[in-house]
Amino acid sequence: MNFTMDGAEIFVPDGVPEAEALARTTHMAIGAHQDDLEIMAMDGILACFRRDDNWFTGVVVTNGAGSPRSGLYGQYTDEEMQLVRIKEQKKAAIVGEYAAQVLLGHPSSAVKDAANRDPITDLAQVIQAARPEVIYTHNLADKHTTHIGVAVKVIAALRSLPEGDRPQKLYGCEVWRDLDWMNDEDKVAFNLSDMEGVQMALIGVFDSQVSGGKRYDLATMGRRRAHATYHASHATDVATGMNFGMDLTPLVTDPSLEIVEYVESFINRFAEDVRERITSTL
Ligand SMILES: [Zn+2]
Repeated sequence: MNFTMDGAEIFVPDGVPEAEALARTTHMAIGAHQDDLEIMAMDGILACFRRDDNWFTGVVVTNGAGSPRSGLYGQYTDEEMQLVRIKEQKKAAIVGEYAAQVLLGHPSSAVKDAANRDPITDLAQVIQAARPEVIYTHNLADKHTTHIGVAVKVIAALRSLPEGDRPQKLYGCEVWRDLDWMNDEDKVAFNLSDMEGVQMALIGVFDSQVSGGKRYDLATMGRRRAHATYHASHATDVATGMNFGMDLTPLVTDPSLEIVEYVESFINRFAEDVRERITSTL
């Protein structure tokens, strides 16, 4: 595969040839940084874990530069830290039994630059080789601009492909902003009750981030547990772990749909729900 960045690579945990590894993909997650996939796309990872018929491919778009560091990693240069993060992502691919792990190695600035089409070209190539049924990426109400940049470039890549190469579903998922605020009928709920040990291992493997001062392991599992309990107020808990998604599929099937307007429609329905509940009790 001919990627735009020199350091880009495809890691295949079970060593099958690259093309074959990608072609077996059914579920794909595309995230900005190392560890984003494991935080936001556990639904896809678990759907493929220990299965011969479902395969998960992870795609990390940036090189992971500029991450905070402390403790054991305090003395690492930014270059050394980037290598640590690549190694951690490969460890996750092994633990999670991924079909393949793609590392595109773009600087964050390229992802945030609307005029830079390199990440779009790379993503279109990978998606076309893998033809996944489902793609998970960042949700469009995330508060990290690099995450938004990735989601926008994923949409552009999908719009550039022939219809037959597009996935049946595109979900925007939770990292730097929950989707708990969305109206229940608007949100997609992923049941993550199974294999908690695997889930914890897949966040814990990113030690440079967790030891680096952010307890993503506890926070991610805690968010899943909280969503499961607070999702439905009347019924008893049917799930012990949940993540929420924003269905972005209409943005792919209808390329004329404006991205901002589409996201605002969710926000407007949320505002309407808040307004109605208050006015009905005044
Ligand atoms: Zn991230």
